[in-house]
Amino acid sequence: MIPYGKHSISRSDIEAVIDTLENSFLTQGDKVPAFEQAICQYVGAKYANATNSATSALHIACMGLGLTSEDIGWTVPLTFAASANAMRYCGAEVDFVDIDLATGCISVQLLAEKLEKAVKLNRLPKVLIVVHYSGISCDMEAIAKLCLPYNIKIIEDASHAIGGMYKSNIIGNCQYSDCTIFSFHPVKIITSGEGGMVVTNNQQLSEKMKLYSSHGITKNSADSAEPWLYQQETLGFNYRLSDIHAALGLSQLSKLDSFVEQRSLLANKYKEKLSALPVKFLTPPKACQSAWHIFVIQLTNESPINRVDLYKELHNHGIGCQVHYIPVHWHPYYQSLGFKQEQYTNSNTFYQRCITLPLYPGLENQNLIVEKLSQLLT
Ligand SMILES: *Cc1c(COP(=O)(O)O)cnc(C)c1O
Repeated sequence: MIPYGKHSISRSDIEAVIDTLENSFLTQGDKVPAFEQAICQYVGAKYANATNSATSALHIACMGLGLTSEDIGWTVPLTFAASANAMRYCGAEVDFVDIDLATGCISVQLLAEKLEKAVKLNRLPKVLIVVHYSGISCDMEAIAKLCLPYNIKIIEDASHAIGGMYKSNIIGNCQYSDCTIFSFHPVKIITSGEGGMVVTNNQQLSEKMKLYSSHGITKNSADSAEPWLYQQETLGFNYRLSDIHAALGLSQLSKLDSFVEQRSLLANKYKEKLSALPVKFLTPPKACQSAWHIFVIQLTNESPINRVDLYKELHNHGIGCQVHYIPVHWHPYYQSLGFKQEQYTNSNTFYQRCITLPLYPGLENQNLIVEKLSQLLT
């Protein structure tokens, strides 16, 4: 089976991990700070906090921004459940803003409309988590402009988007947000096995997030009267990344540009070869470049085969396509919170038409995938 996504590990990655196993601390050594530093430098942000997953990073970001059970948090339905769950961990009420069908990202117009209503009802969110779907950046400038008057904190869930560009800036510089989150799960663009990172330009926020990701414990300086002293200031978690994982992440980071380039070449080839078929592609906003985490097509009404049958036929022929995503509000847990399936029509329409084709550096059978799709869609 050709998978829809796959990590790309080479000899130098393996050697980086072995070197850490043989010569360094396995955790709380120098590889984690080195990885954090390197990510800061790459994306152009001031502070970084490595975590054991992007989900953990989302959680400490929400905590750091002060989200509580008194608050409301917004995100989009077309995402992995973790984007919404992080706000639920804080006890906050979750609500959704629908997407724009052309980009798969949050609709700026629907955000504006929802904000207007929320003002009237006095139900403004404290936090908005936007998701750079498939690697395409949301329109951050417009989103920040809308949120600014209400002091709504903005988190970029860039789990799909490390290495992508927003208006000629690398995604993650946080010019229009409070912080940005990356995932290093093996199916994402670069991997540390499991792992995540949150970057920000806000020193206070960064310090809070560091505290929350390490038990809420601070250490006293060694020259104090009780040099062994450490104190728990608040209730935190153990969300630390290990140095073994960080060594892999650091090594992978050096290949990020080449990975994105290879993904981009494959994506362009898909677009070219599939352009005559009854499918639509996502279009990034002007001057933005996708990081190409996933290649998603949407079937149009002219398609001779429905999405379920297409999925099954591709799987029968060894092509491991996927569907991203079942809208978050469709899950039984969110249904139990009162959401109805028919809400958020754009996300629902998108979900019913979309299919994710295999895309990763080193994908060998692209011609075969294109041929099969051409047969099934004509
Ligand atoms: C993968 C993903 C996450 C969670 O990442 P983990 O590192 O597996 O916790 C969160 N949000 C989105 C949009 C993702 O794709």
